Amino acid sequence: MKVFDPIQFPVIGVMHSPFREKFGIPRQPNLVDVESYIEFHSPYNDLSAFEGIEEFSHLWLLWNFHENKQASSSKFRPQVRPPRLGGNEKKGIFATRSMYRPAPIGMSVVKRVRVEKCKNTVRLYVTGSDLLHGTPILDIKPYIVYSDAVTEALSGYAMDEPNKKTVIWESIAKHQQEILLRENQLTPKIIHSIEQVLSLDPRPAYQNDEQRIYGMKFDIFDVRFTVICDYIHIVEIIT
Ligand code: SAH
Repeated sequence: MKVFDPIQFPVIGVMHSPFREKFGIPRQPNLVDVESYIEFHSPYNDLSAFEGIEEFSHLWLLWNFHENKQASSSKFRPQVRPPRLGGNEKKGIFATRSMYRPAPIGMSVVKRVRVEKCKNTVRLYVTGSDLLHGTPILDIKPYIVYSDAVTEALSGYAMDEPNKKTVIWESIAKHQQEILLRENQLTPKIIHSIEQVLSLDPRPAYQNDEQRIYGMKFDIFDVRFTVICDYIHIVEIIT
């Protein structure tokens, strides 16, 4: 086999998540406790394939960066600018978690919630995923503490969790929030998720324009916000 022969894998299922666009998705898993589920395709929608999974609190998801703008067949770029470094310092691709890599495969540790069977479908509910809605899932593996959790590990430029900002609802947004809550469109859980996601400041690393209003889609909602110093101001939430 030539090293550059492509390999094909089956897609076992698809992610259903409130992250309807890339903007706003945490840059790593486990930073927010947003719930999502994987729906499995036939023949992987077989409950016996999940037997024993309830013994594991966390799982590895292996998945495909299917929404990459730049095709993985395009020219190999050995260096990228991690957002964590402000977007102006380069690192070797293999020293980053960039989505633009030779094989567009993502890996994420998530918390298992439950497996559900309903008619012909099997759903695996998880929290903490950083996957876009519609992401093809390649595999699920249990997270094994004695081997996967390396307590003395060094993580270079990504040693600590990113700083979180304080989220403030401006008066108009607060009013819209109350109406949506009354109409049962919004729930306290979704509000909490939106606040968690925004506290991570999803803006591209190199942007710091206090005049600019950003829009993020989350579930059925459009959330607009500005960032001033260490505060995220939500100015609008609409469906
Ligand atoms: N934990 C993973 C992902 C790191 S990059 C890993 O280490 O492999 C995480 C980013 O991938 C998210 O912030 C989001 O912008 C992007 N992303 C999520 N799902 C995607 C998809 N299906 N296609 C392309 N990009 C995606």
